[in-house]
Amino acid sequence: MTYKSIKGTRDILPSESWKWQRVEEKIRGVMHTFNFREIRTPLFEETSLFSRSIGELTDIVSKEMYTFRDLSGESLTLRPEMTASVVRAHIQHNLREQSPLVKLYYIGPMFRQERPQAGRLRQFHQFGAEAIGSQIPSLDVEVVALAVATYEALGVKKTILRINSVGCEKCRPPYKEMLKRHLTRVRDRLSAESQRRLDVNPLRVLDSKSEEDQSAMAQIPLLKDHLCPECSAHYASVKEELAALELQYEEDGRLVRGLDYYTKTAFEILSKDLGAQDALAGGGRYDLLAEELGGKPTPGIGFAAGIERLMMVSEKQKSFLDGEEKLAIFFAALGNEAQRWAMKQALELRRRGISAELDFLSRSLKAQMREADRQQVRHVIIVGENEVKTRRATIKDMKSGEQKTVSFDEVMSLFEKTNTDK
Ligand code: AMP
Repeated sequence: MTYKSIKGTRDILPSESWKWQRVEEKIRGVMHTFNFREIRTPLFEETSLFSRSIGELTDIVSKEMYTFRDLSGESLTLRPEMTASVVRAHIQHNLREQSPLVKLYYIGPMFRQERPQAGRLRQFHQFGAEAIGSQIPSLDVEVVALAVATYEALGVKKTILRINSVGCEKCRPPYKEMLKRHLTRVRDRLSAESQRRLDVNPLRVLDSKSEEDQSAMAQIPLLKDHLCPECSAHYASVKEELAALELQYEEDGRLVRGLDYYTKTAFEILSKDLGAQDALAGGGRYDLLAEELGGKPTPGIGFAAGIERLMMVSEKQKSFLDGEEKLAIFFAALGNEAQRWAMKQALELRRRGISAELDFLSRSLKAQMREADRQQVRHVIIVGENEVKTRRATIKDMKSGEQKTVSFDEVMSLFEKTNTDK
């Protein structure tokens, strides 16, 4: 029997991992320019951290979490998202004492037991950011601008920013009741899934993609028209400031997020170049979350973005500008003595930060040259029997095809980090 990776999980092989590294570097760079600093939290937490924050009735908590008991019987869950963990860490380490506004970002795997399909996995990766400690609308805009700037820096084109307000504990409950009444009237015309949702989480019916639901809901009142004065003013400021920064957005009165902790601003970034799973990123405000998790009331806003989906768009738009960094030097060495010499030189080059490789399969010189070619190496240093005798090595520039012979002692001086790592 052979083993395979679990359904909904993927290996990221070297042919792809370099792209992930590039993307991660870019993300880190943009986060840095916005003064967000990295946080790394454990992959698993107490189950109730997620059920309390995300909401018992949400899809994530009710059917998608990887929950297990450890040997002591404690219920633990692989993180399905990061906001709850970040806010937990913020409270646990009293980060607000260090700074009233904390700007954090993360990159890492998340786990949800969803039905795997293109752009939807069970172990997937997200990058995201959380700004915790202020409720002013310009912080919402800062976070939206950060999300948009990241896609820009990654060369992703034609993203669409959609925004909405999901209200607060004052205006959402009465709206929810009103929505439920309206939806109950058209219940028979709703899809089976929406009929089920109507009972548990009527807000989620709003963002159903199904056509029958869309047409049944044509006349449904929207929360943005029933916000309390505070939420309404907040939403108006966010839109004004987005416009002032010339950040294009579309208002989407039906945009609600699949997590209960959101208040006020909610947003998504989409790409038409993705298939059915067109959401690249989503986020919003969570002004009540810290309190819900036992901390002092601390407003915050953040977003999470799927890296697999980002990769899919990048592939489609061919936005990986430069290729993988290639190996700088390959030693084609024949015989024990040459091999020993090559080992030593390779080690010295690597100490200088220059990548170097040699043959470990006892291949002929010809086969070694073929290997160097396959790896698209910049220079090959050839040390055959002749070279060993004369203590001279042949250096071949694989781009120009030029060759020269230098004494063993000179080899190192030819390779400085600056001229070989291009
Ligand atoms: P969410 O936390 O559900 O708002 O997700 C934020 C982003 O993460 C989405 O817009 C997707 O890009 C990505 N994402 C969420 N769930 C999955 C999944 N199962 N597989 C791949 N990407 C996902």
